[in-house]
Amino acid sequence: MADGAPALVVDEVHKSFGPLEVLKGVSLTAHDGDVIVMIGSSGSGKSTFLRCINLLEIPDSGTITLRGETIHMIETRHGGRPESWKQVDRLRTRLGMVFQQFNLWSHMTVLENVIEAPVHVLKRPRAEAVELAMGLLEKVGIADKRDHYPSHLSGGQQQRAAIARALAMEPEVMLFDEPTSALDPELVGEVLRVIRQLAEEGRTMIIVTHEMGFAREVASDVLFLHQGRIEEQGPPAQVFGNPASERCRQFLASNR
Ligand code: ADP
Ligand code: MG
Repeated sequence: MADGAPALVVDEVHKSFGPLEVLKGVSLTAHDGDVIVMIGSSGSGKSTFLRCINLLEIPDSGTITLRGETIHMIETRHGGRPESWKQVDRLRTRLGMVFQQFNLWSHMTVLENVIEAPVHVLKRPRAEAVELAMGLLEKVGIADKRDHYPSHLSGGQQQRAAIARALAMEPEVMLFDEPTSALDPELVGEVLRVIRQLAEEGRTMIIVTHEMGFAREVASDVLFLHQGRIEEQGPPAQVFGNPASERCRQFLASNR
């Protein structure tokens, strides 16, 4: 294990769906505590990129390196395949993902949702998993909802439960795909507050969002994705204040 290696390095990821080339060589490096915010128009490839990072989609080519451990994609006639599926399973347990639509298991209570993977994937003793889960539910402010089913929660509470569920795996990097886009406007703040707190605690995160004010505030780096390529990249003051790319300027002007 390479000490001092960045938390996450993604190098030259390519991904096509049939004839549609969605990612045309996208790379990023996240050091410990970095909060990388990805912005870009709908259809630019943001979700596909996040899904490639945790290998929910298998890139056609490129590498994903988590703390010095690299997964290479092997190019085949039908797209890419990872060198080793065992490595893929391991990588997935080390990355936390939060989706736009929460994706909680509807037949499980909040607490059951949070302890499911720690107990069944990490083989944690149930009592220990419950203790950890309760701490996380406190942290995201919904400990009193532990025995409720997701359908009885507001969208903001469901998303906070989903964040607690991801954190319960003690991931090295958290990935967020438009975590507030499905929420009523009055519920956005409570979810952003939780993510902001994680940023302050020094968690390494990649966040796709349209909340530009939030992005400007929490990002250590901002990436603007355009048609499957990183078109602009830099600290928030630069990307939001003085972008070099005309497309990035236009995007920001229409997303104020
Ligand atoms: P974004 O998240 O930036 O809106 P996506 O990554 O969801 O963009 O999508 C990028 C492009 O890839 C879109 O044109 C979308 O229709 C296409 N796409 C995404 N997933 C698939 C898939 N599983 N099969 C075919 N096309 C897809
Ligand atoms: Mg998307």
